[in-house]
Amino acid sequence: MSAPVLELKNVAKTYRVKQGMFGKPKPLNAVNDVSLSLGRGEVLGLVGESGCGKSTLAKILLGLEEPTSGQVLVDGEAIGGQDRLALARRIQPIFQDPYSSLNPRKTIADIVSLPLRVHGVGDAKSRAKSVRETLELVGLPARVLNTYPSQMSGGQRQRVAIARALIMHPEIVICDEPTSALDVSVQSQILNLLNELRAEFGLTYLFISHDLAVVEHLATRVAVMYLGRIVEEADVGDLFDAPRHPYTRALLNSVLTPDPSLGVPDTQLGSAYPNPISPPSGCHFHPRCPFAETLCKTKAPRPVPRAGGHVECHLHDPDSTMYRPDFTV
Ligand code: SF4
Repeated sequence: MSAPVLELKNVAKTYRVKQGMFGKPKPLNAVNDVSLSLGRGEVLGLVGESGCGKSTLAKILLGLEEPTSGQVLVDGEAIGGQDRLALARRIQPIFQDPYSSLNPRKTIADIVSLPLRVHGVGDAKSRAKSVRETLELVGLPARVLNTYPSQMSGGQRQRVAIARALIMHPEIVICDEPTSALDVSVQSQILNLLNELRAEFGLTYLFISHDLAVVEHLATRVAVMYLGRIVEEADVGDLFDAPRHPYTRALLNSVLTPDPSLGVPDTQLGSAYPNPISPPSGCHFHPRCPFAETLCKTKAPRPVPRAGGHVECHLHDPDSTMYRPDFTV
C-alpha cells in the first residue's frame, strides 16, 4: 500500500444513553478501538448491519463527531486540531439519500457552487465556470443549472451530490450508502461514475454499505464491522475468495437474499442484532455464531493477522484452544 492518506488509530466513540425515563445513563460503545489505514487512490469498503457503528465512524471522519479516544490522521496530520472548514477542503461526503441531502429551494447552480462560496473561492464568474465543468464531469448538461432538485431523477440528483462533493477537489470522499436509495439500473451507473472519477483524480474513498455485492464492485479492501469493531479486514479478492470470520460468511450469504429493498441484509443467523448498550460477553458475535464454543462466551478474540488485514475469531488464533488451522467458513 502507498503511504496512508487516511489513518484511524484506536478510534473509539462512546455515548451515554438513558434507557427509560428513570434509567441511569449507560455507555454505548458505537465505535470500539478501530484502526484502519487507506493509501491514496484506495477504496475501503466498510460493511455491516444497520447500527454497527459505520455511520458514527463516517461522522468522526467528517469532523461532525469527536472521538472519545484515538486519532484520525490525514496525510499524517491529526484532524482533531483542524477547523471544520479546513477539514471540509480535504474530506467531502456523499450521502445515501439525494432527495433529502439537496436543498429543494435552491437551483442546481446554487447547490453545486455552495462549497466555493462558503470557502470564498474565486469570483462569481470563475465559480460559474467551475460549476459547469464539474457538472460536465459527472455527466450532467449545462441546461440543468437553473433547475431544482424536484425536477430531476434520483440518479441525476446523486450526480449533483457528487458534483457538490468534488468541486473543492477533496483528497478523500466518504460515500455513505450512496446508491441504496436508487433503482438497481441507476446504481451501476453511479458506481461506474464513482470509479471513473477515482481513477481520474486519484481520489480515496471510504465506501460504506450494507451490501457486499456493491462493495465488491468498487472496493480494493474491505473491513467488516460488528458492534463497533472491525472483525475482519482483507483485500477484496481475498475476502470474497476466503472469508475467515463467520459473520463475514453470513454477510456473503445475505448477498443472495432476493429482496433488494430490505435495506439491511438478512444475515440468516437466527437471532436479531444485539442491543449495543448491553453487548454479549466474550466474542460479541457468539449468540449468532454457528461455531461458538464455551470459550467464545467468556473471552473476546484478539485481532490475528490475515492476508491484507486481520480477523478476530478464536478459530484463527494459534494461541487459542479453539484454533483450527484448516478452518474456512
Ligand atoms: Fe464464532 Fe467464537 Fe469465532 Fe466469535 S470467536 S466468531 S463466537 S467461533
